[in-house]
Amino acid sequence: MRRAIYPGSFDPVTNGHLDVVDRARKLFDEVIVAVAHNDQKQPLFTLDERLELLQATIGGLERVRIAPLEGLLVKFALEQQAIAVVRGLRAVSDFEFEFQMALMNRKLEGAVETIFLMPKEEYTYLSSRIVKEIARLGGDIAKFVPPSVVEAFNRKRTS
Ligand code: ADP
Repeated sequence: MRRAIYPGSFDPVTNGHLDVVDRARKLFDEVIVAVAHNDQKQPLFTLDERLELLQATIGGLERVRIAPLEGLLVKFALEQQAIAVVRGLRAVSDFEFEFQMALMNRKLEGAVETIFLMPKEEYTYLSSRIVKEIARLGGDIAKFVPPSVVEAFNRKRTS
């Protein structure tokens, strides 16, 4: 069983994330989408909301699991018997941070490999941060995120 972990904040999940999940599923028998608490980033959606939005979007896919990410990523990967960590690379701007993380994770645990996947070009400009910004300013985000995320933003606006 070749298993990979795809970690992130997913605040909220976008079509770019879904593209990476699709690609990862072609390479691995199982993909665990692991959602980090990430209190430092002060997420807009709570951990439970982010898990639910992923569940609503890709929860039905075979060979995909969604789980909260507790503690150190490489430790979680070993516990889950995963052989790889998958990350998305959109542009050179992602590279420096991702490279540092990948090498640090290798230092911490040599058995877990990091794999970078490039999304379709149309998703290279897409991030959760920019989606939140567009939504805050009243723009239409329907092209960038799954329908359940559009609904979640509408609920937040009216609550
Ligand atoms: P993090 O806070 O860990 O960066 P994100 O949810 O922002 O969490 O991203 C999780 C992973 O998905 C990262 O590897 C990021 O580069 C990747 N990612 C985010 N948006 C896209 C996108 N549009 N296309 C490809 N990869 C993406």
